[in-house]
This record gives sequence, C-alpha cells and structure tokens, in this order.
Amino acid sequence: MKAVIFSEHGGPEVLRYTEVPEPPIGPNEVLVRVRACALNHLDLWIRRGMPGISIPLPHILGSDISGDVAKTGAEVSGVKTGEKVLLLPGISCGHCAQCAAGKDSQCRGYTLFGYMVDGGYAEYVKAPAVNVIPMPPNLSYEEAAAVPLVFLTAWHMLITRADLKPAEEVLVLGAGSGVGSAAIQIAKVTGARVIATAGSDEKLAKAKELGADETILHSRQDIAAEVKRLTNRRGVDVVFEHVGEVTWEKSIRSLAVGGRLVTCGATTGYEGKIDIRYLFTRQLSILGSYMGGKPELLAVLELVARRAVKPVIDKVFPLAQAAEAHRHLESREQFGKVVLRVP
Ligand SMILES: [Zn+2]
Repeated sequence: MKAVIFSEHGGPEVLRYTEVPEPPIGPNEVLVRVRACALNHLDLWIRRGMPGISIPLPHILGSDISGDVAKTGAEVSGVKTGEKVLLLPGISCGHCAQCAAGKDSQCRGYTLFGYMVDGGYAEYVKAPAVNVIPMPPNLSYEEAAAVPLVFLTAWHMLITRADLKPAEEVLVLGAGSGVGSAAIQIAKVTGARVIATAGSDEKLAKAKELGADETILHSRQDIAAEVKRLTNRRGVDVVFEHVGEVTWEKSIRSLAVGGRLVTCGATTGYEGKIDIRYLFTRQLSILGSYMGGKPELLAVLELVARRAVKPVIDKVFPLAQAAEAHRHLESREQFGKVVLRVP
C-alpha cells in the first residue's frame, strides 16, 4: 500500500511517500481503507521527536481517520465490510476500571493512532473493532476526519473537566486552531457566552461566524485587560487553554473569582508561573485534560449529526503532499483543520 512514513525524526522533509506492506489484522481487528486523515499538532511533535519518548520507527502518523471497512477479523461482529466509518482516535486496554467507566484516556495503556501504533497517513490502517464508529451520514470523509480528536478534546475540557454552565462566560484561546474552533461551538451549544482570541482580524471574523460573542486580537490587545473590559471587571468563569507559556499568566488573570482554567496543551512552552496567594484567595481551579472517552465522542457525533456543531476545514492536501501539509500547519496561518485526502 502507499503510505507516508518517517524513519528518523526531523523537519517535514523526513516524511516520505512510499510503498509499505499492508498491515495484517488480528481476530478482533478491522482493516480500514483510509479516505481522509486530519492533522494535529501532535503529529508535528511526534515527527520532531520528544525527549524521553521512543516512537517505533519507521512510523506512520495520523490520529484522525475516516474511511471504509475493507476487512474484518474472525471474531468481529457488528461491523460490515464497505461500511463508512471514522475511528475513535484513542486505543486503550478495554478492561481496567478507567476503561469500564468510559474514561479511556486515563487507562495506563492509552495511546493514539499515529502515536505508539501506526496511523492514518496510509491507504490502510488496522484498528481494534471497538474503535470503529459509523460516520454521521451528513459528512464527507474529510469532514468526518476533522471531527474526532479536537471535538473530543474540547468536549472533555469544557463539559467533563470544567463543567461549563449555560449562564457562564468562557474565554477560548486560539480560535483559529482545530481545538479552538471546536471549543467555540461546544461552548455555544451549552449556552455560555464566548470570548475568543486569534492573531488576525480575518480569524476573528471567522470565530464570530462560529458563534463567538466577543473577540480579542491577541497580537495587539492585552487578553486579561480586554477580558476584564468585556465582563464588566468580573473575569470569565472558564479559560480554555492550550497555548501554554506565552498566555498562561494572562489566562489566570482573566479568571473570575471561583474560575476554572482548563488546559490540554502548551504549544508555546511548558513553564507557567502562578502566584499561589492569587490561586487560593480567589478560589481558582487549574484542571488538566487529555483527550477523552468513547462516550464523549459519541455525544459529540450526535451533535454533529443534528448539525448543532460542524467540523471546520482549512485546507485539504493529497496524501503524497503530507510534508507540505505539515509546513502549512506549522505556519499557524490556518483556521480549522488541515486534512489529507487519501485517493
Ligand atoms: Zn484500560
């Protein structure tokens, strides 16, 4: 089969479009003919290499996958050849207390397609049958691939971790990112008032189209000062963080008394300072979040099927141009998801 692989860590140039063997499947697995695979920042981190984490090489990236069922293992039931599907991006043991509670991403054995196992930058990918989910009928393959990771992450952050309520106000950082564009929509579905930030007027206009009530141009305006102005000096109940070092202190300063900061990433750096007195006197909560569980993705897909939320696609590249797609994502000029089409 055709696939994009890398055999050493480095820049986009290490990605090679080449021929590799089709993966054999076990009795409880399914072979999926990939039609689309969305990119995530995680792909960039894995390609570059992360200290202390050993990725099996050569490696196939890609966590967000849609396609057709090509083959099913002997023990698989409930999945049919030819069915249009998307894949739950997280793979877990399926047996531990966390898995049984639907908290897949807290499983000790948790990983993702394209992380410790091969992913969707290929014509075929093998998947545990439990990861296979029927595609919402109103979506293209590219749209279906643009849903799972970012909507699962945003749902887990806002609904499960931060417990966002309808009358509350939320600050969504980085509206142009995949996770930011998902967060605006999920926050609006709950009924919350959304303040979104982005680095250009064009992106802010798109954030408003997605439902943001107010916007902040973070390249020119001070986030915390603008939040105070827009909330009548109160601050927001929830800050949706994934930027990290550059925004951390401003994010904390943007919280109302009793506010919650929820974070799933640190794309600008890992060091965040906090004045502990400010934390306890204002009764703030800092919440970590990582991916989410299958029940949460199924909830999101229900909203997608009802057209209450929609995947936002920035640009589609053919699989063979994966390196170009990585450069595009690294440029941070996108609004929404960058997707590979697999012909
Ligand atoms: Zn488990």
